[in-house]
Amino acid sequence: MDVMGTVRTLVSGPDTDGTPPTSARNRAALHTAAAERLASDGSWEQAYEHLHAAVQLLGGEPYDELDRLRREHAEAREQSRRDSLTASYNRRYLDERLAALLSEVDLRTTGLCLALVDIDHFKAVNDTHGHLFGDRVLQRMVAELDAALPDSGFCARYGGEEFALVLPGRDLAQAVEISEQARDRIARHDWSDLHPDLRVTVSIGVAHAAVRPVEVERLIGEADLLLYTAKESGRNAVAYRASRGGRVRLAGAAGARRSIPQPVRTTG
Ligand code: GH3
Ligand code: MG
Ligand code: MG
Repeated sequence: MDVMGTVRTLVSGPDTDGTPPTSARNRAALHTAAAERLASDGSWEQAYEHLHAAVQLLGGEPYDELDRLRREHAEAREQSRRDSLTASYNRRYLDERLAALLSEVDLRTTGLCLALVDIDHFKAVNDTHGHLFGDRVLQRMVAELDAALPDSGFCARYGGEEFALVLPGRDLAQAVEISEQARDRIARHDWSDLHPDLRVTVSIGVAHAAVRPVEVERLIGEADLLLYTAKESGRNAVAYRASRGGRVRLAGAAGARRSIPQPVRTTG
C-alpha cells in the first residue's frame, strides 16, 4: 500500500522547517501503526480513517492518493454485491442484509417482509427466442421490479429467473400490495421493443417475519412455499397468509380463483 509508506516517511522525517512538530508526528505515528494493523486484518474503512487522521496531522500531503484508494475499495465492494447480468444485488448481499435486518428490525411493529418472484414459463421464452434474448428479459425485469419498490426496499437476484424483494418497514398488508402492484406492472409491461408477441408474467410468494427468533432460511422457505402455491393456483398471482400458519390467499383479482391449493408442508 503506497500511501502507507508515504505517511510513514512523513512521520519519521526530520524536525526541520516545513515538517510538522514532533508531537504531531508522534500522534501521526500512532495512527499509522493502527492503520497498518487494521489494513492487515482487512478492515479497510477503519484503516483509512486512521490514515486520514495521520495525514491531517502531517499537513495533508497524500490526500489524493488516499481518496483514490478509498474510492477504489468502495467500488470493488459495491461490485462484489452486484449480479453481473442484471446489476441487481446478488445472493450474497441478500443473505447478509436479511440476517442484519432480522436482527435489527422491531418485529413487534412492522416485522420484515420478503417476496420471492419467479418468472412464469421462462424456459419457454429461452426455447422460443434464445438464451441471449432471455438475458435481456431478465435485465428488463429487474428495472421493472426496482421501479415498483419503495425507497427502503431492494431487489436481489436470488438465482436464475428468481428475484427477492426485501421490504423493511412495511407490514404484511403493505408488502402484499407492493407485490401485487409489481406483478400487475410486469403483466401490463409493453415488451414490443424486444418482440411484438412477448408476454411475461410472474408469480410471487410474500412471507412475513413477525416473531423472534427468525432465521433467514425459514423466511425464505415460507416465501418459497407461498410462491409454489401461486404457481399451482394458475401463476401470475401473489400468494400470502393473513395469519401465521393460516390459509394461503391470493392478492387482488386472483383471490376470486376457486381453487387455491393449500400446502401440506409448513415452515412454521
Ligand atoms: P415456472 O412457471 O414453473 O417457473 O416455469 P419456468 O419455465 O420458468 O421454470 P423452469 O425452472 O423450468 O425454468 C427456468 C428457466 O430459467 C430455465 C433456465 O434456463 C432459465 N434461466 C435461468 N437463469 C438464466 C439466465 O441467466 N439467463 C437466461 N436466459 N435464462 C436463465
Ligand atoms: Mg424458477
Ligand atoms: Mg420460472
